[in-house]
Amino acid sequence: MDFSVSDKMKIITNMIDEFVDKELIPMEPALLTRSFKELLPELEQKRRMVKQMELWAPNHPTEYGGMGLNLKEHALVSECLGRTPIGHYVFGCQAPDAGNIEILYMFGTEEQKEKWLRPLVEGKIRSCFSMTEVELPGSNPVMMDTMAVKDGDDYVINGQKWYTSSSDGARFAIVMAVTNPEASRYLQASMIIVPTDTPGFNQVRNIPVMGEPGSDYFGHGEILYQNCRVPQKNLLGPEGGGFVIAQERLGPGRIHHCMRWVGICNRCFDLLCSRAATRPIAPGKTLAGKEIIQMWIAECAADIQAARLMVLYAADRIDTVGAKAARKEISMIKFVVANTMMRVIDRALQVHGGLGMTDDTIIAWYYRHERASRIYDGADEVHKVSVAKRIIKEYEGKQR
Ligand SMILES: Cc1cc2nc3c(=O)[nH]c(=O)nc-3n(C[C@H](O)[C@H](O)[C@H](O)COP(=O)(O)OP(=O)(O)OC[C@H]3O[C@@H](n4cnc5c(N)ncnc54)[C@H](O)[C@@H]3O)c2cc1C
Repeated sequence: MDFSVSDKMKIITNMIDEFVDKELIPMEPALLTRSFKELLPELEQKRRMVKQMELWAPNHPTEYGGMGLNLKEHALVSECLGRTPIGHYVFGCQAPDAGNIEILYMFGTEEQKEKWLRPLVEGKIRSCFSMTEVELPGSNPVMMDTMAVKDGDDYVINGQKWYTSSSDGARFAIVMAVTNPEASRYLQASMIIVPTDTPGFNQVRNIPVMGEPGSDYFGHGEILYQNCRVPQKNLLGPEGGGFVIAQERLGPGRIHHCMRWVGICNRCFDLLCSRAATRPIAPGKTLAGKEIIQMWIAECAADIQAARLMVLYAADRIDTVGAKAARKEISMIKFVVANTMMRVIDRALQVHGGLGMTDDTIIAWYYRHERASRIYDGADEVHKVSVAKRIIKEYEGKQR
């Protein structure tokens, strides 16, 4: 595998690193003390600067106003942007919009693309993805209660979802609902575009996560769909094709998430090392002189490098053999990188002592918000079972 970075990508990543350092990291104290909603005007101004630098929507299609970077190129961008919690948002490549853009581009009708995809890529509106239900296991989403029943030219949707991230302030949701209850399990559900101002789309609350209800883009909504009526032309892709499309949404998305997590590792590792090198622990001595801290520094450095190379390898596999054939590698990075990140964050926090527990650094924010990485997009255990099954299959029927 070729790990070289093109001159174009060197220029882009240098520009982004500089922007993150100069424009975004200084905004973090405000992010830690005020709500996301309050920061919207300032964030909008930063977005305008990114557009002027022609770095807007790096991974999105050029015909809709993005830069059209390929998966490996965007992986490098995602790593730079992960160094701050607002990086992806300010550059127009944030989840869940990024995944929704991908599937609208692949499966949307021309009308849907003009109405929803174009303004989404341009950053004029936001969206959310509404699949997980309160009462049923998100790990096995074929168990789904939300129904979309045909009535005249419409679908009427009823059900209860939660963890519809960023629903607060979103213009539309892509909702997974059962349309074909008699079909085989994987062909029962469809994706339907539901404008959030449709009567019957009821946002119950932003769920408090690790003590924070969040707001706007940083919220996670609970949504009650009550006789929520949308035209049948809002169906995204084929009827019954919901799970097939969901798979398409998750493959490349995991590369973006994982490289974002590598970016978080880099940031926390920087903080860890700089604190260790400057914190006096005895007269004339710093924390960095302690062997246990040196072990952590060496282990974190090695773990981050291993995680990063695994993600780039998985991206290369997706590019060369396709997302389906690369499923083992995609599952592996999901649990390896999430756990590496949690270890690095935890050690950075520990090295900062009492300061690490405060919001005077970004570490505690990452500690609270990134714990979810081991749960969403497939919990650790689900991915491990999937990897093990693929490996075992290679051995079945073979005696050595
Ligand atoms: C911060 C955050 C953001 C999210 N954003 C979205 C979003 O935008 N849209 C959306 O639709 N959903 C979203 N989700 C929901 C997420 O996808 C689900 O939480 C996830 O799929 C797990 O489902 P569950 O919570 O129902 O847990 P369950 O399915 O009940 O699983 C609970 C636990 O059981 C274990 N487990 C599950 N299956 C197995 C197995 N096969 N073998 C062994 N152990 C297993 C795992 O440890 C798992 O954590 C988000 C979740 C979080 C935390």
